[in-house]
Amino acid sequence: MIFNIDLGGNSAKCALIENFEIKSKFFIETPKFEIIENLKKMIDIYFKENSFNWSDIEAISFSIPGAYDKKTESIVFAGNLNWWNYPLLKEAKRIFNFENIFILNDANAATYGEWKKGQNSKPNSMMLFTLGTGVGHGLILDKKLWEGSGKGFASEGGHGGCFAEEELLCSCGVYGCLEAKSSATGIERELNKTDNKKYIESKLGKEFKEIKIIDIVDLFNDEDTVIINIFKECLLPMAKAIGYLQTVLEVEKILIGGGPSNLGNKITEIILDNLKKYTLKSFYENMTIEIANLGNDAGIWGAHYWAVENSKKETFNNKV
Ligand SMILES: [Zn+2]
Repeated sequence: MIFNIDLGGNSAKCALIENFEIKSKFFIETPKFEIIENLKKMIDIYFKENSFNWSDIEAISFSIPGAYDKKTESIVFAGNLNWWNYPLLKEAKRIFNFENIFILNDANAATYGEWKKGQNSKPNSMMLFTLGTGVGHGLILDKKLWEGSGKGFASEGGHGGCFAEEELLCSCGVYGCLEAKSSATGIERELNKTDNKKYIESKLGKEFKEIKIIDIVDLFNDEDTVIINIFKECLLPMAKAIGYLQTVLEVEKILIGGGPSNLGNKITEIILDNLKKYTLKSFYENMTIEIANLGNDAGIWGAHYWAVENSKKETFNNKV
């Protein structure tokens, strides 16, 4: 059995998986201090209450919202967890008193999970953008998760400046990253600008403290022009990045995940519409953009497959 932990800013999604079947799934609220210590304490309580034993666990996999350097075995930065150069692998091994531990960045985990479990066709190459608090990005090249130079930094396609028209300051400290505009947070920032907020409140006939994407689903589905234009504007920096990346990489498939992807194919239509202007015709005509299939479990599954494939082979009876 493998214990899989998808760590977020405020909570951890945990899943016990055996023979590629989820045996148990639960959430733990995590405080902002001594995160791993507190996580272990809460997991111990859950194990005791539900009669799970650590002796049955063959590996632990972590999906982490931060950049993980494989060489130093440390999280270089994870803003939401307030980790800077945090030696996660060493600390997790000490706190869990467990040797067989594997770590992936959360967007890479979601990409790998989507490729292994969400995509029956197993494309030779694909990339995933996840729209949430930030914009996650992962890349499969030649049927392998692209890890960059070996540090494991790749890929951070939500960052790097250049693509946002406005010089917005991104959470990473760089100006003009697409994340600042194309993330769910960026879309909601736009929805709450004074004129947009007034318009939405008048259309819906009620006042909001803060408008969330979920509040405007009906307006979006009714193709309200103002709402569609807000999405077009917000998704433009990501579309430009896709156009550029596709011109360089020409992957078989581009997938969109995260909260706003629940709005369905209209999201991919908006991105494609934006792309027309920024992509060479031959690339545009052969481009496949789809909504990701796995939803919220993509990270758990990606981390799981990663642990299975990177564990010592003799630990497992089952082959992938
Ligand atoms: Zn950034």
